[in-house]
Amino acid sequence: MEGHSKIQIKKPSGFFQLGNTHCLAIQGKIYISIGPDWGYNLCLGTILLGVNIFFIFIMAPKVPIELQYIGLFIYLSAFISYLVLALKDPGIIFNFWEINLEEVQSGQRLCKGCSVIIEKGSEHCYDCQVCIRGYDHHCPISGKCIGSGNLISFYAFLMSVLCSVMYLAMWVFIRIKEIRS
Ligand SMILES: [Zn+2]
Ligand SMILES: [Zn+2]
Repeated sequence: MEGHSKIQIKKPSGFFQLGNTHCLAIQGKIYISIGPDWGYNLCLGTILLGVNIFFIFIMAPKVPIELQYIGLFIYLSAFISYLVLALKDPGIIFNFWEINLEEVQSGQRLCKGCSVIIEKGSEHCYDCQVCIRGYDHHCPISGKCIGSGNLISFYAFLMSVLCSVMYLAMWVFIRIKEIRS
C-alpha cells in the first residue's frame, strides 16, 4: 500500500468565507474575493456606471468625435478597473488544513487573529479578519484590503479617476469657450 503517512491536502473549490471576506476559489486558488465593505462596492459601482451613461448621452455629443473616443476610454477604464479592484484577491493568506503547533518550524510565527503563518510583509487586517500578503492598507472604498495581489489594480483605478476628473475639467472648459463665442 502506498504510504499511509501521505498528507492529504484539501484544496477548497467553490464559494466560502474567510474571516469577513467572501471568496470564490478553484483548487485552492482564490479567483474572486469580495471584502467586508461590499456596500461601498455596490454604491460606487452604480455611480461609475451612471457616470458612463451620463458621459455617453450628455457629455459626448457636445465634443468632436476624437474626444468622444478618448472620453469613453477614460470613463470605461474607471468603471472596469473598479470592478477588477472590487473582485480581485488582495493576497489573502489561508491554510488548506489546520496547522498544528508542532508543524510550525522554528522562526515561524502564527497570526493570533487567523492562525496562518506570518510572512514577510504580511499583516493581519482587523476589518477583514484575514492576513494579507504585502499588506498596504484597508480601503473601505475598495471594499477590502489593498495588498500585493491588487495594488496594481488600485493604482490603475486611482489613475483612471484622475484622468476622468481632468477630462471633465477639459470638457467644461471647451463648453464655456463655445458658449462665450
Ligand atoms: Zn491574521
Ligand atoms: Zn482589510
